Amino acid sequence: MDRLSVNDARKPDTIGKQVRLSGWIRTRRDSKGGFSFLELNDGSSLGNIQVIADGSLANYENEIKHLSAGSSVTVEGEVKASGGQGQATEIHAASVVVHGLADPEKYPLQKKRHTMEKLREWAHLRPRTNTFGAVMRVRNRICRSIHEFFQGEGFLWIHTPIITASDCEGAGEMFRVSTLDPDKPPRTPAGGVDHAKDFFGRAAYLTVSGQLEGEIYATALGKIYTFGPTFRAENSNTSRHLAEFWMVEPEVAFYELTDNMDLAERFLKRIVSDVLADCGEDMEFFQERIDNTTLARLEKVTAGEFHRVTYTEAIELLTTSGQKFEFPVQWGSDLQAEHERWLTEQHFGAPVILYNYPAAIKPFYMKVNDDCEPGRQTVRAMDVLTPGVGEIIGGSQREDRLDVLEARMRDQDLNLDDYWWYRELREFGTVPHAGFGLGLERMVQFVTGMANIRDVIPFPRTPGNAEF
Ligand code: ATP
Ligand code: MN
Repeated sequence: MDRLSVNDARKPDTIGKQVRLSGWIRTRRDSKGGFSFLELNDGSSLGNIQVIADGSLANYENEIKHLSAGSSVTVEGEVKASGGQGQATEIHAASVVVHGLADPEKYPLQKKRHTMEKLREWAHLRPRTNTFGAVMRVRNRICRSIHEFFQGEGFLWIHTPIITASDCEGAGEMFRVSTLDPDKPPRTPAGGVDHAKDFFGRAAYLTVSGQLEGEIYATALGKIYTFGPTFRAENSNTSRHLAEFWMVEPEVAFYELTDNMDLAERFLKRIVSDVLADCGEDMEFFQERIDNTTLARLEKVTAGEFHRVTYTEAIELLTTSGQKFEFPVQWGSDLQAEHERWLTEQHFGAPVILYNYPAAIKPFYMKVNDDCEPGRQTVRAMDVLTPGVGEIIGGSQREDRLDVLEARMRDQDLNLDDYWWYRELREFGTVPHAGFGLGLERMVQFVTGMANIRDVIPFPRTPGNAEF
């Protein structure tokens, strides 16, 4: 007796086998002939398998006929070819063991469709829905692609710390990590909180990015990536921001900005083609039930090359577009989501890499371009914008000249001593290097068409929300 997943049992090559399947009932339908059809799902695929439970089974009347959505069972029986539409196989049950019933008066996931907002209140049950099962299978496939892509290219996965004292300047507001009593913290003579008495002997935070630490390892081991949770205490209640999200950050020694763009493009293409190859049934579901532009959008990724446009050219396109924006743009201003979306959705209708941004709106570690027009100093930053999501990747070539780096730090009023180790990477055997960060949840949104980032992570953390 083989223990099979529903996904495997749905394949015709299992016909004739005696199998054992376990999962949750989606529906039960009783036939006049004195038997019942059970739709069983175990999360291994979007589709269910149909189980035929005959009235002659010992527990038919007192258990099987009480099964309803959400009940859990183990079924043993033979896989047979199915005459039903859209299914190759079905199970003729020799036994149905009921683990637990789910009271249909109380179980929230009844046949009717619930809004995504409602489902967020049931974060403990929503993985049992078609949508969340599909999201999690695709999310898992993306994570596997991320590792396979980088490992295949010879990158080392480096575990950068979650608790950090460095603040990757400009990335966002940070959550403080402290064991001091908030009601009566030790005080310095001047009256401030004395962090020297805190757990780490200094102020500490949850990381907003592993980049600075990633640079340490890239400038020793060549090609590295980090992949882990990242935290931002930004109070932005948008459909694209979480307070806790997962980020992938490759960092490569001897890479310049164009190498970095090539890497980002190869990387995104690989993820998309893996998902299309392996998650066909789930992707069809997203196309039909969530967003009917999903597959066309993904084809744009695998088909052509990404557009590459300088910030200056983008400003030109935006100011001559005739489009009314809420925030007007001019050279030097930060692009808002509406501008990014106009470029990638309206103008190009495809992924775009914007690069060479004004130095004044970017952090100190980005490499300053030498050949700038007077009054228009730029840095080698790059953002990848995608239709539907906007910014999905942010990255840059890093400043590798100690004097330029320090001048930029002074311009931004940073304390150079805090970055002594970062500066030493430029003092001892400095090398050109570059890297970027991809937000995993934005990638899942892009691939699935899910509108809200809260619905592509198991337990979303946003301002005011940390239940479960
Ligand atoms: P945005 O302008 O959209 O807030 P950012 O410029 O702050 O993004 P980076 O600091 O460059 O983003 O971070 C790299 C990537 O991490 C982004 O391109 C995005 O995919 C992702 N990301 C950033 N902030 C968040 C967030 N709060 N929630 C989810 N993903 C995020
Ligand atoms: Mn941000």
